[in-house]
Amino acid sequence: MWGRALFARRRLSLVVVLLLTLLVPLAARPGSAAAARNQFFPQTGHNITDPFLRFYEQSGGLTLFGLPLTEAFNEGALTIQYFERARLEWHTNYPVGRQIEIGQVGRELAATRVDEAPFRRLAVPTGVGTFFPETGHSLRGGFADYWRANGDLTVFGYPLSEEFAETLPGATPLTVQYFERARLELPTPSRVGLGLLGAQSFRQRAYPLALLAPASALPAPTPRALTIPVLEYHDVGFGVGTYQVTLPAFRAQLDWLQANGYTAVTLTDVYAYMFEGGDLPPKPVVITFDDGRASQWNAVQELNARGMKGVFFILGGGNALSDGQVRQIIAQGHEIESHTMSHPQLSRLSDAQLVYELVRSKQLLEAKYGVPIRYLAYPYGDYDNRVINATIAAGYDGALAAWGGGSWTPQKRWQEPRIIITGFATIGEFAGLVRGATR
Ligand SMILES: [Zn+2]
Repeated sequence: MWGRALFARRRLSLVVVLLLTLLVPLAARPGSAAAARNQFFPQTGHNITDPFLRFYEQSGGLTLFGLPLTEAFNEGALTIQYFERARLEWHTNYPVGRQIEIGQVGRELAATRVDEAPFRRLAVPTGVGTFFPETGHSLRGGFADYWRANGDLTVFGYPLSEEFAETLPGATPLTVQYFERARLELPTPSRVGLGLLGAQSFRQRAYPLALLAPASALPAPTPRALTIPVLEYHDVGFGVGTYQVTLPAFRAQLDWLQANGYTAVTLTDVYAYMFEGGDLPPKPVVITFDDGRASQWNAVQELNARGMKGVFFILGGGNALSDGQVRQIIAQGHEIESHTMSHPQLSRLSDAQLVYELVRSKQLLEAKYGVPIRYLAYPYGDYDNRVINATIAAGYDGALAAWGGGSWTPQKRWQEPRIIITGFATIGEFAGLVRGATR
């Protein structure tokens, strides 16, 4: 979409005028009532705001992208932000969870150099390493190790050149290799790192330099506590027990919630209220289900019949609910989140097992269902400080215990309480539990 003609000098003034009319600071966007989560970087004087901030935090942050060079700004239908090493792009027309993309700055810069020897596409592999027929280039040695260890195709894309020696302006010669979204560099005798391709792309596209001017820190919302009933169910319509609520009882409970003015919200709504200045309706309630049990399909029908949303904590390693059912649950507006891979007692696992249960379940569910997995419910409500730290490192936004009442606080972000609803609760007892956790 951005032709090479764009970079021609004679077009520059036109481009600048065009861009200035399109540049609308994100903070000034109408309709964004709630303050978004934000982090200010005094080193360059720029803010990173959600959803870029979330992507930045979860995809490599400072190491891969560097500092923000600009605020986020609109360019046509896209919202983009420049970083030292990358350009992030917000595609609102893409599926939720995949809307932020790393711009193909490497491809844009390589486009002007296709005739140079290192960029010429090879028909057959030469020598060692992995050959990528998609682009006709190979990858080997330290660059290959770095590429694999830091996000491979997703983050860097395919190689667009071979390794070669390049002298960049104002620098000593480097060994470099270009990729669709990055340039890997090996300054001898140092370690492999990433080139400042974001900065280079910014210059190549000849944006107004005013975009680089330091901005002031955007206000970040103050985290706030709330009292909310977060109900926890297991089987619905499969006998009576601690983990089994009958269908008539479940219906009566949903009807009671509706008759008493409660609105079922998602965990994303609640965490946004706590940390991002988001709004909640009066009398919010969260209705959660653990384990991906087959009988929860009954609960889905009852929720749908009343226009209520549920949150389903399912396993990465397989559920009694079928894939098709999970997809319908998502399509019907309910939320799915992680309950680990295999439902272990997390505090008893080795560090490596812990990473597998937390990271793999998140990645696998996101890849399989195409939605972000942001929250975790600890199986058996079992967690300790090590588990919490691993949960944070795995990229979750919050985690839930299995009991503890209705007092949610920012300090308890990784162990927010729930209220278990057993099959033995009368409707009066149910009402008491819910009222007891309502502001
Ligand atoms: Zn469970």
